[in-house]
Amino acid sequence: MATASLQPKVGGATHVDVVIVGAGISGVGSAYHLQEQCPNKSYVILEMKDTFGGTWETHKYPGVRSDSDLYTFGYRFKPWVGTPVASADAILDYMGEVIEENGIGPNIRYGHRIDRCSWSSKENLWTVESTRLADGAAVTFTCNFLWMCQGYYDHEKPYIPDWPGMDKYKGQFVHAQLWDPKTDYTGKRVLVIGSGATAATVIPAFAEKAAHVTMLQRSPTYFACAENRNELADRLRQIGIDEPTVHRVVRAQIMHDQNLMTQRCQNEPDAVFEELKAMIRFYAGEDFQFEPHFTPKYRVWQQRLAFCPEGDIFKAAVAGKLSVVTDTLQTFTEKGVRTSSGEEIEADIIVAATGFRLSVMGEIPFSVDGKQVNWHDTITYRGMMFTDVPNMAWVFGYFRASWTLRVDMLGDFVCSLLNHMDELGSKRVEVALRDEDKDMEILPWIEADNFNPGYLMRGLDRLPRRGDKPEWRHNQDYWAEREQIPLIDLDAAEFVYDGKRRATAGKARKVEVA
Ligand SMILES: Cc1cc2nc3c(=O)[nH]c(=O)nc-3n(C[C@H](O)[C@H](O)[C@H](O)COP(=O)(O)OP(=O)(O)OC[C@H]3O[C@@H](n4cnc5c(N)ncnc54)[C@H](O)[C@@H]3O)c2cc1C
Repeated sequence: MATASLQPKVGGATHVDVVIVGAGISGVGSAYHLQEQCPNKSYVILEMKDTFGGTWETHKYPGVRSDSDLYTFGYRFKPWVGTPVASADAILDYMGEVIEENGIGPNIRYGHRIDRCSWSSKENLWTVESTRLADGAAVTFTCNFLWMCQGYYDHEKPYIPDWPGMDKYKGQFVHAQLWDPKTDYTGKRVLVIGSGATAATVIPAFAEKAAHVTMLQRSPTYFACAENRNELADRLRQIGIDEPTVHRVVRAQIMHDQNLMTQRCQNEPDAVFEELKAMIRFYAGEDFQFEPHFTPKYRVWQQRLAFCPEGDIFKAAVAGKLSVVTDTLQTFTEKGVRTSSGEEIEADIIVAATGFRLSVMGEIPFSVDGKQVNWHDTITYRGMMFTDVPNMAWVFGYFRASWTLRVDMLGDFVCSLLNHMDELGSKRVEVALRDEDKDMEILPWIEADNFNPGYLMRGLDRLPRRGDKPEWRHNQDYWAEREQIPLIDLDAAEFVYDGKRRATAGKARKVEVA
């Protein structure tokens, strides 16, 4: 692998073959695949923070952990050996090992915030302008290919609704994303606003030390409770099976079960809900009341299922440490909040678990040949490339399956594309609608009746759009994509190399997916 520091400077800029944006789980995984599959390409990862981890470094609230199992949230190439649901610290350790074992570290430029990306068709180059945050110096890179792994939300500014009366509240208000781990909540009354995955994580942790926790939710969420262990993994280890095999087999088992679950959620949602309730009763007791606080209005799986290892949130409720209020927040008061039905909830600390502020391409201004890119004017190719934006891919993972499954899959795809360009001697690739796509209906980024979390719905007018054919959709369907993406024909008419479509369809690639 060529190292970035050895690359010549072009007009004051350091040149590399590939710039990867972000050292989160996507950026680190993409760097691994680039090193493995395109060993002659030089690259840097530009990361705004002083360390790697992205999401797992940003969030520091009590109990912060994954809600996916790490056998599938971990990369396919690095066995996971811990508990299926893991703390942020354990995930950071795992990522640190990936960086260390594969010599990725020297290619990461920490503390570099990307301010602008400009493509020139004359030079077939991206110019990536960044600020070195330690001293404010402008640092510029040029690259042939831009691999966007910057995630999908603003790490600095979370989403806080504009609630009336916030200035009146005399206690401590904080969004979970900005939680300072030094905050002492021992013996305090804590109010958590929200009921999604963050609330499900933070509430059992607060309940251990707080005087009392109240969860104020606008509407209920589906919860899945189970032990935080994988029986098959334990058994395989017990009989001496090696970790790479355990990882491969357990991943296959979990993905098989999840696929079955997704199909059942669509075909028999009521039966699935009854099973989820049975799992909750196992931890909370047979008499546990689901009405009104634990009976959601939406279809199961339309939003992420909140996972509770060992039924922790329900145990807190049964122990009297947690109360749930299902209502809308009318106003903040001096001592807490008042809901629309007039209930006063007093609290010493109010924690908003109200989700993210969508950040499209890290809000980095992009231009192509001097013209500013408006992402909403572009149409996505399978949620990874965009019309009129050459030599660029975005890693946007799965929400209903582990995000990282798509990191590995797109790693294979981008590397094949780069290698194919080299075979063709091509300097520029872009995706473009074909004649047969001219009358295609152009639709919002996601289908609202398929998957509809608030932060995506709030940002649809800023996200790229899609068509209604598989090539032009971001379908969030791991099971369809694991068949389709490895077989993409890189010479198909939707790919344009150096301004020309390939005349003949080429050989389909076949890439092994784990
Ligand atoms: C608390 C929490 C728990 C989650 N749990 C799960 C889970 O269990 N399973 C799951 O599948 N998904 C989960 N998710 C979704 C999660 O965000 C993704 O799974 C994944 O971690 C995203 O990784 P990423 O590398 O794509 O983006 P991020 O983690 O967002 O990392 C992006 C990186 O890019 C950097 N960056 C952004 N803009 C710039 C710029 N202009 N210049 C330089 N650097 C920049 C950021 O600093 C950051 O380090 C969770 C999300 C949260 C918030």
